[in-house]
Amino acid sequence: MKVHEYQAKHILAHYGVPIPRGEAVFTPEEARAAAQRLGGTVVVKAQIHAGGRGKAGGVKLARNPEEAERIAGSLLGQKLVTAQTGPEGRVVGRLLIEEALDIAKEFYLSLLVDRAAARPVFMASSEGGVEIEVVAAEHPEKILKETVHPGTGFQPFQARHLAFGLGLDPVLLQEATRIFSSLYRAFLATDASLVEANPFVQTRDGRLLALDAKMTFDDNALFRHKDIQELRDVHEEDPLEVKASEYKLNYIRLDGNVGCMVNGAGLAMATMDIIQYAGGRPANFLDVGGGASEEQVKRGFEIILGDPNVRAVLINIFGGIMRCDIVASGVVAAAKSLGINVPVVVRLEGTNVELGQKILKESGLNFTVASGMKDAAEKVVAASRGN
Ligand code: ADP
Ligand code: MG
Repeated sequence: MKVHEYQAKHILAHYGVPIPRGEAVFTPEEARAAAQRLGGTVVVKAQIHAGGRGKAGGVKLARNPEEAERIAGSLLGQKLVTAQTGPEGRVVGRLLIEEALDIAKEFYLSLLVDRAAARPVFMASSEGGVEIEVVAAEHPEKILKETVHPGTGFQPFQARHLAFGLGLDPVLLQEATRIFSSLYRAFLATDASLVEANPFVQTRDGRLLALDAKMTFDDNALFRHKDIQELRDVHEEDPLEVKASEYKLNYIRLDGNVGCMVNGAGLAMATMDIIQYAGGRPANFLDVGGGASEEQVKRGFEIILGDPNVRAVLINIFGGIMRCDIVASGVVAAAKSLGINVPVVVRLEGTNVELGQKILKESGLNFTVASGMKDAAEKVVAASRGN
């Protein structure tokens, strides 16, 4: 789960990371009042779950409260298209009004899980404010890394390595190492999969602060962070993915046109692969789970059909824990209540397969039955092309 910049900053501040003074607002009037309270020049920052806002016009300076109100009016309710939103952009629903800082240097800091090392890794770069992917591609030597042993935790010497590596002013070393340790504590305590401050800045008056903040949390750990769960902003998520999460379905929307309903993540991956192999492109990843109910199968089907790009659907179920007749009943129920207007190819295998096939046949609905994965993939790709 992702949160907005102002929410991530709030969490980081709780763990002792300095952040600029600021307030989240929802209307131009609130923006004006917040700018008044902050005093002086402020920055109006669009709050969307995507970066690249600065370059896209989503971060603007306002010299007085009137200007803040005007800028807020021009951003709120508008679509912001950044390098990270995709061409469809995101509608801005909230803003962060923040004191404008006099920046001397911008750095990059992040913490994430290095899957290869199976450890958290703290990354830092003197090239802050720019896209880190660009730095990684062009100047990989400018990215410093400290992997953290989970047993010992992030050590002070590692923080000093990073601080020295960034070329920080020696008088700031102690403060920097304190902040880096705070960032690590925030990362660990919240079960975050990513903490990023880009930029992390040094001001002209010698302060260090997180000027931008991004946090992503491990969905599987959210059950123990009720306070973080409450920060969820569903407007930032794909409506179909939000619906899927309500039914506890593992669904990720993709940009192809072959809808896939599969049980088990491994089989779902294999199904997506074989669709590609047959020359098609999957419209989604959907794992209805090992023990899905008829209701969940129905909801899964509804979600697949809710994607207007879907031209054909492949139902690929291996009945292990899941019984084929339950899947078939769910599919038939969904087809009857939704009225399907795309071809559906079904491959069932495993427990109660004959019963499942009988239910499909006797439904009077037009399903194409496939034998085996390869046959199923070829049939559904042909169907998606209108053959
Ligand atoms: P994004 O990464 O989405 O573009 P940032 O929060 O990193 O958004 O802001 C972009 C740039 O705007 C920063 O690199 C910084 O130069 C400037 N900026 C952001 N917030 C402030 C602030 N409070 N004071 C001064 N400059 C700021
Ligand atoms: Mg940024």
